Amino acid sequence: MLHPDVTLLAHNYVRPEVQAAADFVGDSLELARIARDRVETPYLVVAGVDFMAETAALLNPDKTVIHPEPFSRCAMALRLTPGDVLAARAAYPDAAVVAYVNTSAAVKAVSDVCCTSANAVEIVNALEEKTVIFVPDRNLALHVAARTEKEVVPVPAIGCCPVHHALTAGEVRAARALHPGAEVMVHPETSPEVQAEADYIGSTSGMLRRATQTRAETVIVGTEIGLIPRLEQAAPGRRFIPASPHLVCADMKMITLELIEQAIARHGPVVKVPEPVASRARHALERMLALSRP
Ligand code: SF4
Repeated sequence: MLHPDVTLLAHNYVRPEVQAAADFVGDSLELARIARDRVETPYLVVAGVDFMAETAALLNPDKTVIHPEPFSRCAMALRLTPGDVLAARAAYPDAAVVAYVNTSAAVKAVSDVCCTSANAVEIVNALEEKTVIFVPDRNLALHVAARTEKEVVPVPAIGCCPVHHALTAGEVRAARALHPGAEVMVHPETSPEVQAEADYIGSTSGMLRRATQTRAETVIVGTEIGLIPRLEQAAPGRRFIPASPHLVCADMKMITLELIEQAIARHGPVVKVPEPVASRARHALERMLALSRP
């Protein structure tokens, strides 16, 4: 605990020392649930990118939510505007809009429901609509499309996480060749070609579970390298090797312990989402939490 009035939430991709100082560490779905249900202090500091702090502020409006570095912004979320979503709605008037949590509050506000990489298939399958506009990650949209009967329309056509999308199938094959017998785990934000090379595809929380279940002594990890220390803690004795040294999200790494301490000392920068965006975006998030397994 850094301060008795503060709960620190940290995403699996932030620096190891920040994760070590946090009260809770998890993926986007876990952090959203914790932000809503388990924070008893007046201040909530979010060590992650901008949309994670916004999500915490939306789900727990009674707390003061602090984002230590407002310039820590998800490059994928930045690419999509509410206007893009409204244009897609006009093109597919009978479709539901499913927004990956990696979006701004303004985009969530014009969406029907949110999802994370941990529950995307579950959320899409739970909807009544036969067509789903899925924003903004094309790779996750295609991953979902392969696991549902519904028509899934990725918007924008080229939306992606620049970190995960940069991983190539060739890099995965090269890592396998270097480590014969290793298992390959990748995140669904990676390209379909990379996912086709994998033994396991899942969110970071899914990978943590898988790490304790696999019989492989060595695991090649196709997600942001911040997860590696958590995997090592979850499954001591196994080797976890990044599929590429370039799997680093610079925005996640912007959040340092020093910035967190400064933010706690000055009680800011505070994240607030104005109305009516907040109510609409909160509805999309709450609907996701209601539709996904606890
Ligand atoms: S890893 Fe990708 S999706 Fe996650 S915050 Fe960084 S840019 Fe956004």
